Amino acid sequence: MGRPHIRRVAVAVAVATAATGLAGTAFAGPSTGVERSAASARTSASASAAAVVAAARAAAFAHASASGVSKGDELHAQDVMIDPEGARHVRFVRTHHNLPVLGGDLVVHLNNKLAYAGVTRAAGHAVKPDTTRARLTARQAASKAARAAKGHAGGARLVVDARGGGAALAYQVTVTSRGASHTVVVDAVTGKVRSDIPDSDEFLSPKLVRTLRKRGETINPATGSGSGTARASLVFDPGGHRAARYPANAKGTGKSLFVGKVRLTTTQTSRGHFQLRDRTRYGTETRDAKGSYTESFTKGKKFTSRTDVWGNGKTSSRTSAAADAQYGVTETLDFYKKTFKRKGIANDGKAAHAMVHWGKKVANAFWDPTCNCMLYGDGDGKMFKKPLVVLDVTGHELTHGVVDATAKLEPTYVDSDGNQYGEPGALNESLADIFGSNVEFFAHNKKDTPDFLIGEKLGLKQKFLRRLDHPSLDKLEGTIDYWSPETYYTEVHAGSGVSSHAYYLLAEGSGKRKIGGVTYDSPTYDNSKVKGIGRTKATAIFYRALTRYMVSTTDFHGARVATLKAAKDLYGAKSTEYKTVDRAWAAVNVTAANRPTARR
Ligand SMILES: [Zn+2]
Repeated sequence: MGRPHIRRVAVAVAVATAATGLAGTAFAGPSTGVERSAASARTSASASAAAVVAAARAAAFAHASASGVSKGDELHAQDVMIDPEGARHVRFVRTHHNLPVLGGDLVVHLNNKLAYAGVTRAAGHAVKPDTTRARLTARQAASKAARAAKGHAGGARLVVDARGGGAALAYQVTVTSRGASHTVVVDAVTGKVRSDIPDSDEFLSPKLVRTLRKRGETINPATGSGSGTARASLVFDPGGHRAARYPANAKGTGKSLFVGKVRLTTTQTSRGHFQLRDRTRYGTETRDAKGSYTESFTKGKKFTSRTDVWGNGKTSSRTSAAADAQYGVTETLDFYKKTFKRKGIANDGKAAHAMVHWGKKVANAFWDPTCNCMLYGDGDGKMFKKPLVVLDVTGHELTHGVVDATAKLEPTYVDSDGNQYGEPGALNESLADIFGSNVEFFAHNKKDTPDFLIGEKLGLKQKFLRRLDHPSLDKLEGTIDYWSPETYYTEVHAGSGVSSHAYYLLAEGSGKRKIGGVTYDSPTYDNSKVKGIGRTKATAIFYRALTRYMVSTTDFHGARVATLKAAKDLYGAKSTEYKTVDRAWAAVNVTAANRPTARR
């Protein structure tokens, strides 16, 4: 999971009060591959970001019954997305009498004349708490949180917890232990721990690790230092020949563990000295954590070289894993930029860093929003023999960063082992798999041929970890193919199958198909035949849905509505694409008719 949106509230408030800060992340430009009317977008794009935010805020209060905002609420803009046809979508977080509201996020939709066109909201109720007086002191709340999450508590601050239909006065506390942080929410009146959610997403869930251990399975991906697999950078021009002044861009070679020889844009710091840092991609860089649990990127040791060759294709060089990491991160950034014009993970033009050799025998990899970087452990040497630096893992994890910067989908429940549950969390995992496999298609590396499988290079007995065409073929996490009322209580990786399957059906259709050497056979709940609209269009629909029409509480029925809206924007309500979105969801048993009334 991504970081709970709680901590982000502070950031958003700061952005909203500084008009210049907003402009930095705002008008992202057309964020899907499809432009319908660039000319109209240009004329209507002249309204300033501040004017758009003001119009959206006024619209939210004018349409209070639809938006759910009420007296005492303040709206703080987090993001403004502009469509090619000129429509705007302003994402807000909320405070209530200056207290951050958890689960109070909403997106206000405006047409190209800045008139109200609808709202997507996380909470369907007014967030007025019964009391504004806390019984617990901040110190008492912090010590409760520290006990619950077994670590050291930072300061506690008062919030309104509006998740799950309530509106409770609560304390929000960050607890850290061994480099991992949790956000704990403690009821300010009863002292009950309302939630305890890890701030970073581990690629391998505690449940999966236990299953693998029970089965005596190991993760031991094959390495190789083959050559001729790299392709030239398509997106950026390193311009290395004007290298008289330093630092200068250089063309380096990575000898990676899993994707052969790859070309990397590096930095020449002086004559004969290079650093594993890519100035053409916002200064994205990989460092060596040297076995520490630091969440501070600046504490990582720089990778430097005299030859601009990085690694030797084997784990005997500490730099090989760094080559994989730097390659995976830059390919992911390029995928988002080239496909959606997204500039960096948070669309703010900032670097996405990576640290390899993180921690002592850590058998995992994760996106850490605190350091804005990917952290890769080396494996425990027993069950996990190598660093988890394969491409689709990186694409998956960085997509959690993208979700964190947009819809911030949250698990509804986390158990004491750290396993996460609930449909919004499952949707988050699914989007990470969908875009993660699209990163593979984008990278088109012969050493890691693109497919709709996740973790196919991990060396697992079932040959993959998860797959989008027929999720239930996975027996390790028990991923499901179809929605049912119980899905709301399913572990997030297992539950991810519902929307991953819908995405696959939308892209490629039902039945047998061979794509790039892999045979797929996608079933449907209602035995209907679905004809796919192609991966490019399906991906554009899901991206637009994520960035415009999803909020922290979006469940699978909400995702159906979001993707229908996105398809309508892009292709029209009478289009084959729109109808196929509807059919794909019906084929995984998500329909307008079976939406649970409690969550409508
Ligand atoms: Zn994940």
